[in-house]
Amino acid sequence: MRDKKNFFAGPSVLPLEVLEALQSDLLDYKGSGVSMIEASHRGEPFEGMYNETLSLLRELMNIPADYDIFFLGGGATLQFTMIPMNFLPPNGVADYIKSGTWANKATEDASKLGKVNLYYDGSDNKFTSLPEASSVKPSKNSSYLYLCSNETIGGIEWQDWPETGNVPLIADMSSDLLSRPVPVEKFSMIYGGVQKNLGPAGATLIIMKKEMLERQNKNLTAYMDYSLHAKNDGLYNTPPVFSIWAVKLVLEWIKKNGGAVGMEKRASLKSSIIYDTIDNSGGFITSPVDKAYRSKMNIVFRLQSEELEKKFLSEAKQHGMLGLKGHRSVGGLRASVYNSLPVEDVMALSDFMKEFQRANG
Ligand SMILES: *Cc1c(COP(=O)(O)O)cnc(C)c1O
Repeated sequence: MRDKKNFFAGPSVLPLEVLEALQSDLLDYKGSGVSMIEASHRGEPFEGMYNETLSLLRELMNIPADYDIFFLGGGATLQFTMIPMNFLPPNGVADYIKSGTWANKATEDASKLGKVNLYYDGSDNKFTSLPEASSVKPSKNSSYLYLCSNETIGGIEWQDWPETGNVPLIADMSSDLLSRPVPVEKFSMIYGGVQKNLGPAGATLIIMKKEMLERQNKNLTAYMDYSLHAKNDGLYNTPPVFSIWAVKLVLEWIKKNGGAVGMEKRASLKSSIIYDTIDNSGGFITSPVDKAYRSKMNIVFRLQSEELEKKFLSEAKQHGMLGLKGHRSVGGLRASVYNSLPVEDVMALSDFMKEFQRANG
């Protein structure tokens, strides 16, 4: 059965006990006589489960009371549009930090809807580095500063956060949600697709400072309007019920395993096992990424030739290690080591990398 090691970048690995709980409660949710996914979202058993999910998030992410939490559909990608629609006024300008595939897509969508200032453009370093957080000072009249906390494809991650003063800070945290403690109060909005660290695809988590909603553009259509979702506690329309249920189970698993601090320890341990293997390979395996911003979630690496990388992938597969191919846009290799991935799987990958070098180096 589940004898494979899952290094996929997203959707990605979930804790086995979460999958088992979903399976065992699928037909009859805790004696309610109905399945969670065939019950109305305006009553039990959904309401109890939903409220627990929100309070677990508040607890584990330390989200202050003046922030709304809700889930939307449309993936993180819909937020690339909703953010400028809501917060970039017709005569305004927003600062964007172009740091890789995902921030670039957000930048592109925002540019179609309003004026964007490219505060930082990583194309000079092929998106292998980030600006130093303490040096980031958005322009005074900026409507917001936008960044992506972890570039899933490029494998770079912010280690610290800019102080943006009166300029709202907005972050896409799709691929490092709850992998470490985050000072939520520094952000006006945090969002992320849950399918990397928190659950299956289908739900996008939105954490919105109430004050931010006062800056909204007017005349938005219903679904595009954050205030409407906030006012209705995320239940303006049918929320992604199945994903939310799975997220709740993952949050319980995270809590049991030490919360955000526990996840950070796991992430540091797992990523250092692989980075050490790279650094100790004498150049046989290389990392294209600035050491100061190495991601603890997505580890990109290269071998000397594409032939060798192909061989690596096919032999890894024979060893039950899946999802190690780099994104098609950049090539190379990538190991995603999200929250739920067991430490043993990472150790097995490290052993395999060393063995591969012995045989081919
Ligand atoms: C996966 C990912 C996205 C896109 O998410 P969808 O839910 O597929 O739209 C956006 N940003 C980051 C950082 C991601 O990792």
